[in-house]
Amino acid sequence: MKSTCFAGKKVALFGLGASGEVTALALQQGGAHVCAWDDNAASCQNAAAKNIHIEDLKKANWQEFSALILSPGVPLTHPEPHWSVKLAIAAGVEIIGDIELFFREREIAQSNSKCVCITGTNGKSTTTALVVHMLKSLGQNVQMGGNIGVPALQLETPNDTTIHVLEISTFQSDLAPSIAPTIGVLLNLAEDHLDRHGSMEAYARLKKHVVQNANVAVLGQDDEFTRVISASLYERTPPTSSGLTRGSILNQIKVDLSHKGEDEARFMQQITQISSTRALQNGFSLEGTKIIYAIDRIIKTKFELAGIRSLRGAHNAQNAAAALAVMYNLGFTDANALQAALNSFPGLVHRMEEIGQKGKVLFINDSKATNADATQRALASFDNIFWIVGGKDKSDGIEPLADLFPRVKKAYLIGYSATRFAGTLEGKIPYVIAETMENAVRLANIDAAEDAAQESIILLSPACASYDQFKNFEHRGEVFRASVQAILNGVAA
Ligand code: ADP
Repeated sequence: MKSTCFAGKKVALFGLGASGEVTALALQQGGAHVCAWDDNAASCQNAAAKNIHIEDLKKANWQEFSALILSPGVPLTHPEPHWSVKLAIAAGVEIIGDIELFFREREIAQSNSKCVCITGTNGKSTTTALVVHMLKSLGQNVQMGGNIGVPALQLETPNDTTIHVLEISTFQSDLAPSIAPTIGVLLNLAEDHLDRHGSMEAYARLKKHVVQNANVAVLGQDDEFTRVISASLYERTPPTSSGLTRGSILNQIKVDLSHKGEDEARFMQQITQISSTRALQNGFSLEGTKIIYAIDRIIKTKFELAGIRSLRGAHNAQNAAAALAVMYNLGFTDANALQAALNSFPGLVHRMEEIGQKGKVLFINDSKATNADATQRALASFDNIFWIVGGKDKSDGIEPLADLFPRVKKAYLIGYSATRFAGTLEGKIPYVIAETMENAVRLANIDAAEDAAQESIILLSPACASYDQFKNFEHRGEVFRASVQAILNGVAA
């Protein structure tokens, strides 16, 4: 799509990764004069080869710019604003990102286009992919992008016949003041990315921002942070927070989120609740293996999740409940068709993905679990686990997972966090510092095969970022897959 809102104007653009390039081209095609730059010379050269106008923004006259278009990966506030951000602020230039350009273009197109935005600490990609899969199964035109697949400006211009489904990260919502989707989904909230947002309050505010101007907000009810946000959107007193260990943080968030002002500018019309931990009087919630849709306690429909391997675990029930809530709010209520679409969901790679089985040993790739909260879901989904864990650790490490340690037979520690995690596991479960992925898979395979239990699970669910040893979580998952394939093919022991 073209981005026309800066036609005839000069804009600075910093960050020439995949989304930066697409954004620069969309702006140029929409008539803007783009001055693009990146700290990496090779990125500038690649962009120049695609006819993107490159200009050293350190030497530019910032008074001439109407905006700085920033890549979401570039620090806006923490740990420290990037130099381009400082120059923009000094010159009074607004700072926005590609999702903002998408919504401005949608406003300009003035279509009745439908747009779904999905956020949360965990489950964004799975839910986005599931919504897209369900819409396609029902014969709809769908465009998927944002934090998954292609950048938002690589999609079709919003129009009356297409449904756009965007996964939104907080890095993106931080740069998108006008996000106002038809349906906004907030799945859950746990501590993550605090190094980039400074505090849990700031992180929560950015998550809330994705749903607060939606026509319909689909809101998780499974964690206290999201319930507080939900309550603040209902404009009623937040639920009591008895028994909370992080009470002080939550209290601060309540104060922060109940702040009026900009939030009141536009207010949503409707809220749909979802839960995978409690039965809801209104909304979509899990009961046993079924998602129940209830209105005023009266059960309207039931959906069965048992046997859908791509949606294993309570966390995936949360994702399925959210996807069903989106479908209903878009007007798709044929229960048989929706059930069939759930049944045929292929799942996503690197998220509790079954790679294969050798005898009684099942290999699961959950490389996408980059924090303890995500790994908790994986550990809770299996028994007799041989757990490959570690990498660049997050603030709370693996201590929050202690309740689930009894499900683990042995841990295989990889990466930077090995010494710290060994300290957490000491005296609780056996572990070995395996250092590399290849070694961890080899050792786990020997132990799992010798184990007396009927089924053993070799689970990669690192609870850490990957960049100490790998390019990204995909690379980490592929290295795991290759090591497992070697075993499955009989090439390795
Ligand atoms: P995201 O895009 O938000 O990172 P993904 O769908 O890629 O989420 O899943 C990331 C990790 O979180 C995976 O390890 C997955 O098993 C786990 N996960 C998926 N859905 C949820 C959920 N609703 N709650 C908690 N963890 C989840």
